[in-house]
Amino acid sequence: MDDEGEDGKVIWVRRPHDLESVDCLVLPGGESTTISKLLVTFKLFEPLKRRAGEGMPVLGTCAGMIVMCQQGDRDVERTDTQLLGILSARVDRNAFGRQRESFESDLEIEGMGGDPFHAVFIRAPAVVETWGDCKPMARLGDQVVMVRQKNLLAASFHPELTDDLRVHKMLLDLV
Ligand code: GLN
Repeated sequence: MDDEGEDGKVIWVRRPHDLESVDCLVLPGGESTTISKLLVTFKLFEPLKRRAGEGMPVLGTCAGMIVMCQQGDRDVERTDTQLLGILSARVDRNAFGRQRESFESDLEIEGMGGDPFHAVFIRAPAVVETWGDCKPMARLGDQVVMVRQKNLLAASFHPELTDDLRVHKMLLDLV
């Protein structure tokens, strides 16, 4: 990463040996059932769980957030989606419903200085319950849309779709 003095290299993590070489990880958006299956197929599921447990910083966005949670909703069960279970949280996979599949909103994020964060939501999940060390960091109405648990960050929205790097900086600050 080249912004404002952050040096580093960004790589795709596709195989266990890629995972061994990184200091932190972004688990991206997409489709949570597919991501979960691919993690199993490519033998990344258990190693990722282990590294996250050992303290590697992870940022999960949207589907990534869903996969990180310990508990899902009926839709997660119905699709037999295996969750990593590294976040002490329960997630509602399509919390914002079909009619609002995509929208944008300004958020106040705890611990983030400056202006509100302009967040893009695409068929977004929401965290409906947290426990233990998992703490809400941002809300949209009464829905929790960002959480932190020690080395783990998870957001319902897509911070990679805007130029604002503050969420990614939060991840790098954990390294
Ligand atoms: N709601 C989607 C899912 O269940 C995630 C959507 C996204 O990542 N933009 O996987």
